[in-house]
Amino acid sequence: MKIEILAVGSELLTPFFLDTNSLYLTQRLNDLGLDVSKKIVVGDDRDNLLNCIQAALAEADLLLIMGGLGPTGDDITRDVCAEALGKKLVFREDILQKIEERFKRRGRDMPLSNTKQAYIIEGAEAFENKNGTAPGQWLVQGQTRVVLLPGPPRELKPMFEAGIWPKLQEWQKGTMVRKTLKITGLTESEVEGCISGLYPASRDLRLTILASPGQIEIHLTSFATEDWGVAELKIESLALEIGRQLEDHIFSSSGEELEAVVGRLLGEQKRTLATAESCTGGLLAARITNVPGSSEYFLEGFITYSNRAKNLRLDVPLELITSHGAVSYEAARAMAEGVRAKAEADFGLAVTGIAGPTGGTPEKPVGLVYTALAWDGGVDVEKNLFLGQREQVKFQSSQKALDMLRRVLQKTERMS
Ligand code: AMP
Ligand code: MG
Repeated sequence: MKIEILAVGSELLTPFFLDTNSLYLTQRLNDLGLDVSKKIVVGDDRDNLLNCIQAALAEADLLLIMGGLGPTGDDITRDVCAEALGKKLVFREDILQKIEERFKRRGRDMPLSNTKQAYIIEGAEAFENKNGTAPGQWLVQGQTRVVLLPGPPRELKPMFEAGIWPKLQEWQKGTMVRKTLKITGLTESEVEGCISGLYPASRDLRLTILASPGQIEIHLTSFATEDWGVAELKIESLALEIGRQLEDHIFSSSGEELEAVVGRLLGEQKRTLATAESCTGGLLAARITNVPGSSEYFLEGFITYSNRAKNLRLDVPLELITSHGAVSYEAARAMAEGVRAKAEADFGLAVTGIAGPTGGTPEKPVGLVYTALAWDGGVDVEKNLFLGQREQVKFQSSQKALDMLRRVLQKTERMS
């Protein structure tokens, strides 16, 4: 079963737009146990598009083409596809009426240019577009099933789910189950070192490590021809093995972000949090408040950028800053304690560091960040050396601070 995806649109060949539809389609095909063998991005150019479609018709069992079905002059997919198939386009009055009704509902007349969207390739089945004007199409030519889908993701996705997905189920070879384990506090090579013995030998069970600054993800996929339960069992036992190796470095195995894990634990334990940030400039508080329901546990956040602000808002003694520096173990500790006291919170979380690219010295290089957590069990301060650009240093700083809190919260959870 050879499946090819053809994304049409000149904008997809610029630095500004990415073909994300194919990621979605690939995911849904994988869910049926089907693999994609080729993806092509091509501009709105007749000759190129014709060549691509003809080549794909010669080898693919399923060809998914998307984009270029709009009303404007540069949208030529419908015409070129008909040409490649050697078929005529036929006008469908019922489709035109649907498009006209769509405009009427918004109190407008349909522009004449939309008429071309009422043409369907001879012999094709049309799919109504509930979120736009371009209908989808499905037809069989020789051994190839050809599918035409609109480019905008919010039109493509519902149409694919309602019209195409049910047709593809006849090819379902089995079930695919996915699981993502999220890790922080280890480097990619440390993770690899811990789990290198666990790479599955069978093609039905796959393990991929994806690393970004501050976070490593292990993506697992499991495929079974039998049923969902078998695939699930295989993936769970692999995840368990990985969990034994990486222990509490794994902060989520259900897709949750770190701030959501922390938020859930704070909520469950009915404890409150306040933040004091220097180099992260509010990123930490922003991440915490991205979680719905965070008002339940997040009291307030200070962005104390200057020395004076650290003194004024958090009672960090100016002498302490003069003698140790604003980026120091002592300053981070005083910030965490200060914000905890000021906000009357259970936890005070603080970050101070040098995000770069300027401001570094041999003793205090760019990427030096102190993170501190104050709570009724004491104060933890960590000295970190992060690599990367300014934004990456900021993200890693917020990640480390959240992770310090997560570890304390999980310890409490285990003890209770
Ligand atoms: P079109 O069907 O060519 O009129 O597409 C209209 C819009 O859909 C484009 O401007 C893009 O924003 C979006 N689009 C088209 N193709 C894709 C794709 N492969 N992935 C994501 N968005 C797309
Ligand atoms: Mg286009």
